[in-house]
Amino acid sequence: MQIKVLSDDLASRIAAGEVIERPASVVKELVENSLDAGSTRVDVQVVGGGVKSIIVIDNGTGIPSEQITTAFERFATSKIDESSDLISIPTLGFRGEALPSIASVARVTAVSMSKGADSGTKYYVDFGRPGSVETIGAPQGTRIEVADLFNNTPARLKFLGSAGRELSRLQSIMASLALVNPHVAFSLVADSRDRLRTTGSGKLTDSIAGVYGQKIADQMISLEPDGSSAFSVDGLVSSPSLTRANRTYITISVNGRWIQSRRLSYAIEQAYHGFLPERRFPFALLRIRTPLDDVDPNVHPSKAQVRFLREDLVFSIVQRAIRGILSASAPIHEIGASRAAASFGLLGRVDLAEAQSGTRELGMPSTQGSLIQRPDLLFKIAQKQPTEKQTDIASHIAESGNTPHETLPVLRVIGQIHETYIVAEGPEGLYLIDQHAAHERVTFEMVKERFDNNGSEYQPLLEPLTVDLAPGMMTTVQEHQHDLNKAGWKFEEFGKNSLIIRSVPGPLSVRISGDGAGQVLVRVLDELASGGTGDTWSDRLLATIACHASVRAGQSLSIDDCKNLVRQLEESDRPNTCPHGRPTIVRLSVNDIEREFKRR
Ligand code: ADP
Ligand code: MG
Repeated sequence: MQIKVLSDDLASRIAAGEVIERPASVVKELVENSLDAGSTRVDVQVVGGGVKSIIVIDNGTGIPSEQITTAFERFATSKIDESSDLISIPTLGFRGEALPSIASVARVTAVSMSKGADSGTKYYVDFGRPGSVETIGAPQGTRIEVADLFNNTPARLKFLGSAGRELSRLQSIMASLALVNPHVAFSLVADSRDRLRTTGSGKLTDSIAGVYGQKIADQMISLEPDGSSAFSVDGLVSSPSLTRANRTYITISVNGRWIQSRRLSYAIEQAYHGFLPERRFPFALLRIRTPLDDVDPNVHPSKAQVRFLREDLVFSIVQRAIRGILSASAPIHEIGASRAAASFGLLGRVDLAEAQSGTRELGMPSTQGSLIQRPDLLFKIAQKQPTEKQTDIASHIAESGNTPHETLPVLRVIGQIHETYIVAEGPEGLYLIDQHAAHERVTFEMVKERFDNNGSEYQPLLEPLTVDLAPGMMTTVQEHQHDLNKAGWKFEEFGKNSLIIRSVPGPLSVRISGDGAGQVLVRVLDELASGGTGDTWSDRLLATIACHASVRAGQSLSIDDCKNLVRQLEESDRPNTCPHGRPTIVRLSVNDIEREFKRR
């Protein structure tokens, strides 16, 4: 075929494919235009998952009537000009691609009334073919209607999911935009049903309430801005008792732009390490501020990813801020609190499987016949908004990198139940301590301190032990030999796939046989091979040692054993969770006991 320049129409449709992938991308582009126009209200209505129609109405500056046709031309933008350096871009849009892209794959009707104008303008574009411009009356702002999306590109249409699936994607983007723009009132109505509504009060907790429901909003801890440097982070993160099974509840903005970043999400997850059980994720709404020329949003046509000049700095600021506030305010889990969190009725991204499973993360054996069955016993989490003092602590940590001590209340040990839980009385009610989780915490901190100071104890085995490794495991052993030795395992390679173990970590030998201790090494290696690397790997190694070196559930303890354990727990740095992030202690408050007995 001969080389020739593509027609404008074809070129636009090809380009449109990059910007407009699905109904959710239309909503994102239109809403971002509304935000760039300084709107304080953005109302979105969709039908059929957005494929039939999407209407976005704002009260922003509007488009002057003589410019409305230009707005739909490719690379037409009012946001940058020749003199712009593309390095510091303050607006969400700048590529001048959204309106022409959308108009090339749908029927678009734009009605706009610009500030101070006498009348409004209506402009219709039919799958890229410009229609007439009419003068009409309209309220100030812009209303863009997009109908029959992708009707002229059947391949795209086929590639879309069901209307429900597309709606949930669209809803999730709306939720993110609403969360990072608390000063704008958003609404989303889908097939005449209200899906999301925020007040535009400017408060982050109000946006959270509008998107996820008030109960979630009540359990968020606020990260105050440090304000001192050019880089800052603030926002809201969930208290460790409120978790979800996936990362979709993490929302990040950089200089006001909602972004998606795997690495930043990972930084947030890492900050929760040890506070949350494995494979559970927090809610987070983080606002990052950097100098404008430190981020490049021009990475992809969808502008959802950015490049940071000083990426590592941003990550460490995020991690330290969250880590600091969590350590400063880690709550004791209140009985029933996780169920309260699971039963929220929110408009946004509901995880149904999760809402049904209810009590799974409650550190109790079962709810059978117990006090916690009544739904009205869903009390508030002990966590309050951090006080000014705690925030100070947090910013102090952000500077020094030190973690302050959490504290347990003074507890009077009453005894042991079920050979598993220690019962204690404290100032705010009845406390149950999981003996295994508590001992694990105590042992973990002890082995970690020795490990960090190169002083791990080890126990030579009278008879060296041979263990066979899975194929390929020897490389893992070699890579981590230093840390494994440091923890107390001394071994030699024996053939291609076996090790001769000569000594095991000291704490392990107290509770299990040499054979058992050898098997622990195999478990550690398995964990490593299944991706357990990264900077927390040595913590996980030590947590595994602590787990096997600790008193088990089902072991009877004397009252003195119980008291000892509680004293040791009180002295640990992070008494409220075990090294895997499960609670060590839960509380039933006096209030709730009284309510159960109908005293109040
Ligand atoms: P970009 O946002 O990258 O500039 P778009 O194609 O999205 O490109 O929009 C083109 C132009 O149309 C914008 O630069 C802006 O001037 C104008 N515009 C689009 N939507 C609106 C709106 N809702 N309110 C006011 N002006 C708008
Ligand atoms: Mg735009």
